Amino acid sequence: MNGALIIDFWQRGAGLEYIGKYEVQDTLGAGAHGVVLKAYDPILDRVVALKSLKPQRGSDDQVKTILREARLLARLSHPGIVTLFECLEHNGMIFLVMEYVSGRPLSERLLHGPLPVDEAIKIMTELTSALLVAHGQGVYHGDIKPANIMLGEDGRSRLIDFGLAKLSGHDDILATATSQTEVSDYVTGTLLYMSPERISGHSVDAQTDVFALGAVFYEMLTGRSPFGAENLSDALHSILNVAPPRLVNSNSEVSTWIEDLIFSMLHKDRRFRVASMVAVSAKLEARDQRNWRQEARQYANMFLRSLGRQKQTWLWLKSIIVIASVCFGLWATSIVRSNVAPTVSMRIERGLELVQGFAEKGAVEEAQKTFEDILAESSDHSAARAGLALALIREYTSQETDPATLRRAVATAQSAYDADPHLALAHIAMAWTAEFQRDFEKAHQFYDSADILHSDHPLVFEGRSRTLKKQGDVEAALLLMRRAIEVHPEDVVLLTTLGELLSRRGQFSEAEAVLEKAIRLAVDNPISYAQLAHAQHMQDRTNEAVKTIQAGLLIEGRSELYNNLGTYLFFLGLYDQAAQAFERTLEFEGNAHKYLYWANLGDAYRFMPGKSAEARFAHRRAITLLESELANRRDHPALNSRLALYQAKAGNHDLAVTALQYVFTQETIPAVQLYRATITYEIVEDRAKALEMLERAIRSGYPLSEIQGDPELRELRQDRGYAKLVLMESEND
Ligand code: ATP
Ligand code: MG
Repeated sequence: MNGALIIDFWQRGAGLEYIGKYEVQDTLGAGAHGVVLKAYDPILDRVVALKSLKPQRGSDDQVKTILREARLLARLSHPGIVTLFECLEHNGMIFLVMEYVSGRPLSERLLHGPLPVDEAIKIMTELTSALLVAHGQGVYHGDIKPANIMLGEDGRSRLIDFGLAKLSGHDDILATATSQTEVSDYVTGTLLYMSPERISGHSVDAQTDVFALGAVFYEMLTGRSPFGAENLSDALHSILNVAPPRLVNSNSEVSTWIEDLIFSMLHKDRRFRVASMVAVSAKLEARDQRNWRQEARQYANMFLRSLGRQKQTWLWLKSIIVIASVCFGLWATSIVRSNVAPTVSMRIERGLELVQGFAEKGAVEEAQKTFEDILAESSDHSAARAGLALALIREYTSQETDPATLRRAVATAQSAYDADPHLALAHIAMAWTAEFQRDFEKAHQFYDSADILHSDHPLVFEGRSRTLKKQGDVEAALLLMRRAIEVHPEDVVLLTTLGELLSRRGQFSEAEAVLEKAIRLAVDNPISYAQLAHAQHMQDRTNEAVKTIQAGLLIEGRSELYNNLGTYLFFLGLYDQAAQAFERTLEFEGNAHKYLYWANLGDAYRFMPGKSAEARFAHRRAITLLESELANRRDHPALNSRLALYQAKAGNHDLAVTALQYVFTQETIPAVQLYRATITYEIVEDRAKALEMLERAIRSGYPLSEIQGDPELRELRQDRGYAKLVLMESEND
């Protein structure tokens, strides 16, 4: 029937046919399954591209398949995605009428070798932004490869061919290939961009697109596929098992951040791959800022070194010129404007900047070094001493508990203050060190005096609100932070603090907005990601929380982030993956001594088939570590509530019940401890007591949502007593 005409069309090429009003001019591409024609629209006077599928499989399939592509494409509107004008039927065949992209596919361009780095980055940014929009609409491309990327003559790249795209939540991935040879041709063409999980049957989603895009980035910079191979089985083997060769080996101009980004997109284990296009895009956006910072730092160092050898004025001049041209940040302009040598006070500024940007890798060490260098030149410099004290407090808080560091900070702050009692920075250092010695009153006195000497300093805002929080006055801390943000709206540390305080007060959606702003301002601060994830989790969006944490991990593999990741995965019932995250947490230095991490790991093992021995082992480790903490405070109720729980899980039922005695000595037992007692009794098979404890926990405000999702209480929740409890609770509401 009508198919004949089209087949004829395929065989003869374009000819002088009309399709609807469109005059066919040329064939743009004819692949295994489809044909793309160049045609002219005489009414609108423009050239278009028409795409249809070969009708071999019966027109029903053809119609369904091409309509699907049309409908997905119709949802999308972005300069980086080919525009669909309309969809028309011609002799029973469906044609997509699209914007004609004058140019060539990236695959053709790559035949001539790699692209210059700048150009590659430009295309990377365009494609990422296009996919960001597609994913935001729930459309996953599913077939990202150089042949499906058009480089327009207008200098803009476009994503084409949504023939294998998938709408999130729908599982119908179509297979248009017919014969066996076609399948293998087709697969070879696309295989090189397929993620390992896709090869083993996982459906198309955000992360399979991330992987494919990573492979395209790699190829743009090296001219080679990361998994290049002679044949299909070698390619398969490389994708599944072999790490791609370093990019810098084939292109020395590739900076490490690009390489890091691409390798994290190509991670074989999707749990550790960049989680989303949002994260890819954030990394790309961060580039300018990072380059700026890196270069500024580099030249600032050169600058500082020149201080010592002032005869070499040329170096000096050169640095001024370079700085002025590289960055127009405050740093540079102030140097140029004041037209003086980088003074000690500029170095102090730099050190303080690092104290403020402490979350960045290496910042605290660099800050200390900056101040120590100044003190090596003039040992009585009070500002440098104060700065050093602050940097030492940062170190102290990051490692938690090295008392020697705190002692050094205290002495350094005191000596700064003694040397110059009118220096605001010395007052701040005094306040901070007092706070960490838990002398809150003294801390507030010094914050007040610092405020008089220098009002609204961000380090005062930060420290004072932290102090208030430690004193239990979250409300006051929050008020203070709101004011701080009015004065310093772009201070990332203050924003993160505000976000955290909002979360504490249960204002999660506001917290989320604040933390998102913090991340936009500094994508490199892993703490903001942890806080944002918490806010998402608390709003029942644990799936998103997982992705956020993964984005944070991309920036820095911090142990707290792994621990949070594990907690969320556990919550989602993904015990196996949760266990892996907890294992990684424990691998970090010092963490093997923390009972909480062992207990978390044990919990994940508890719900994995065949892992009960490992689970008990992990809980026993937790018990040993916890007991050493209990040595001097045998009757500590909170710690004993944990001990009881761990003993029960380790199979020591009697010891569990014994530990609980210390919990019951309190006049009012906090909800969380009552909840731990619930689980302890449930595990030691005292259901009546478990229900009694649960009732008290609920009355004390323990959230029902936690109880309903806790796998430890799976059986208890079937109990009639539990049904009664829930009923009671809902009546109380
Ligand atoms: P394949 O099976 O080879 O992937 P396909 O049948 O799915 O092909 P497309 O990938 O959409 O079809 O297009 C095939 C080729 O046609 C492209 O590689 C490109 O050269 C050309 N082409 C597609 N769309 C356009 C367009 N809008 N403008 C210009 N050329 C286009
Ligand atoms: Mg294609």
